[in-house]
Amino acid sequence: MKLLLFDIDGTLIRTAGAGKVSMERSFEDVFGIGNGFHNIHMMGRTDPSILMEALSSHHLGWDEEKADRFRETYFSILKNEIQIPRPGKRVCPGVRPLLRLLDKRSDIILGLLTGNWQQSAMIKLGYFKIDHYFTMGAFADDSSDRNELVPIAIERLKKEQKIQIQKQNVYVIGDTPLDIHCAKPYGVRTMAVATGFHSFQDLASEKPDYLFHNFKQPEEVLRIFS
Ligand SMILES: [Mg+2]
Repeated sequence: MKLLLFDIDGTLIRTAGAGKVSMERSFEDVFGIGNGFHNIHMMGRTDPSILMEALSSHHLGWDEEKADRFRETYFSILKNEIQIPRPGKRVCPGVRPLLRLLDKRSDIILGLLTGNWQQSAMIKLGYFKIDHYFTMGAFADDSSDRNELVPIAIERLKKEQKIQIQKQNVYVIGDTPLDIHCAKPYGVRTMAVATGFHSFQDLASEKPDYLFHNFKQPEEVLRIFS
């Protein structure tokens, strides 16, 4: 059995700003501050860690009740924003055929490992109608620290699907150096794809086990799991 854990933004899909705009608008709604995420790096991080940094950059403390309100507001704004046409909004090249092929394999489990909350992950993937491929995952709801998500996903598979997986059969697939960093310490395999904002060269310098420009040749990816 093999477990494939996919990142979402830049790896499976591009929301072309719908995610960021929704975060900004929710921040303004709840905290009364426009452009709240200015100068804050979002790529490869969990949404709560981005929120925490934004709050501290505006000298605001963490407030559980407001954080809940932010999350709920974000989900409802995102549901609308994701519908709006935006240049570059798409499923990443080759991802649809790749998922179709992987889905046919009875020895492969498709999961998510993402800095999104579970609900926003499903809003994004649901919009593109690729949410049904993923039977499990580890999300920002599980930990605000992306580096903790790999063991959470492995444990969840054991608990919910009664499958004990060897770490060399776990593949973490993402578009940023942080996707590679969060996986390497656990001895799982890393696969990077340059369909996000990071170049092929940037990702190569992180030495992932596998590296692709994109997934336009899904059979090349399938070969890894033969
Ligand atoms: Mg990403």
